Amino acid sequence: MVIVLTPDVTAEEIEAIVEEVESVGGSAFVSRGVSRTIIGLIGDVERFELLNLSGRPGIVQVTRISAKYKLVSREHRPEGRSTVEVGGVSIGPDTTTLVAGPCAVETPEQTLESAWMAKAAGATLLRGGAFKPRSSPYAFQGLGERGLKILADVRAETGLPVVTEVVAPHDVEMVAEYADMLQIGTRNMQNFGLLQAVGRAGKPVLLKRGMNATIEEWLMAAEYIAQRGCLDIVLCERGIRTFETATRNTLDVSAVPVVQHLSHLPVMIDPSHSGGRRDLVLPLSRAAIAVGADGVLVDVHPHPEQALCDGPQALMADDLQELSRALDGLAVLMGRRPAGRPRRHLRAG
Ligand code: PEP
Ligand code: MN
Repeated sequence: MVIVLTPDVTAEEIEAIVEEVESVGGSAFVSRGVSRTIIGLIGDVERFELLNLSGRPGIVQVTRISAKYKLVSREHRPEGRSTVEVGGVSIGPDTTTLVAGPCAVETPEQTLESAWMAKAAGATLLRGGAFKPRSSPYAFQGLGERGLKILADVRAETGLPVVTEVVAPHDVEMVAEYADMLQIGTRNMQNFGLLQAVGRAGKPVLLKRGMNATIEEWLMAAEYIAQRGCLDIVLCERGIRTFETATRNTLDVSAVPVVQHLSHLPVMIDPSHSGGRRDLVLPLSRAAIAVGADGVLVDVHPHPEQALCDGPQALMADDLQELSRALDGLAVLMGRRPAGRPRRHLRAG
């Protein structure tokens, strides 16, 4: 908190303010400038506010200044960048994590087939939406709890931990019963009630960047989650809105090193939702790893032409294998461990 004083403030008036601040356990630092004098306060801001300092003789203005995000900031963890564990899988600075799966859970068969495709290519986490936040209310909205049950069955069969989106605070507990990681989508990045609810759920969180959000707003959103007790947060850049129409969104690759400078949280890239086109997923993924991302999250589908959601960006089995090989090669160049799963066809008997 900072107090700006009138030019003609007297020594007695300053002394009275300092005494009041100290009486509630704070410290006051008086800085006398040529044209103005300010007092910087350190201590419990809530208690300072109870003093009702503005309006006192000699005071022009009282400004509350506090860091916009603290728990997720780099300063909060000087020992280095964090690694987040999701169902035994690490996401962080040492490795390159491949998350793959269908945009939406449609049927048990489609989900299982997508999961085997993901696993065969070396992905270590399965993605898939049971609750789909669609721009149109007439578009497929997801299977809800039925979709979550399918994901849990597919996890049991393939061993892949599951990350899935939650869109409403009242569903958080239920989604957390099925999921290994809760996803907050781009459209909900500033749904603060939802952020607080996932922060209390006891599960790691994948926080997508709002398509219109600045990096600072994104980190403040992460702080809402952290403040409720969850520091297992992975950030995911998924493209932002610009004037460009050739791609669905514009992948902001700069966000990765900028975030890594400001925050200790791992950061991934979603090349599927940023480009919106299958042919862009591989080049954008290469860019992701080259710029230092901790992994990529991609849409896959066994029959993209039949997909109920985002078919044009879904990879097929061969595309995913090629992507995985490229990621592994780049991971080594970047001094990281590749995702490192054996790349054979793992479909059971
Ligand atoms: C998704 O990953 O399924 C999704 C809807 O992504 P986004 O929130 O980034 O659009
Ligand atoms: Mn999608």
